[in-house]
Amino acid sequence: MTHKNLQVEAIEQGSVIDHISPQQGIKILKFFQFNNKNEKITIGLNLPTNNGESKDLIKIENLFISNTQANQLALFTPNATINQIKNFKVVHKYKVKLPTSFIGMLSCPNSNCICRHENVKTTFYIQKNTTLKLKCHYCEKSFDRTFFNELY
Ligand SMILES: [Zn+2]
Repeated sequence: MTHKNLQVEAIEQGSVIDHISPQQGIKILKFFQFNNKNEKITIGLNLPTNNGESKDLIKIENLFISNTQANQLALFTPNATINQIKNFKVVHKYKVKLPTSFIGMLSCPNSNCICRHENVKTTFYIQKNTTLKLKCHYCEKSFDRTFFNELY
């Protein structure tokens, strides 16, 4: 089987997350726990792309990525595309997109933050200047993504 076949091999129903930045495929599997759902998963790592770079790719049968998941995916891999497959056909294809905020997804890296000690849903606002930062609603500190254990 060539790389090309592996990338286009059809699934009957489910999702294909394509154009995942290299090194992110495994982290995404872990974060979303796709592998705990007993569905068939095909994962490709460091697959060659047409422009000579490489990408990861994840195919999950019988699972459709929710909008929330698509937003969360953008934190791992800003240029990924999601293909929704039904009856062996791509019925919907879209790019992941960063939302303006993340609620209840990440815990605050600031150990003094009130959200670490009270039962509240964490809220982070996306700040996009030269690098991506997430600003905590509660302590108002900004962190880049390397501060969040959940993303590694
Ligand atoms: Zn905080």
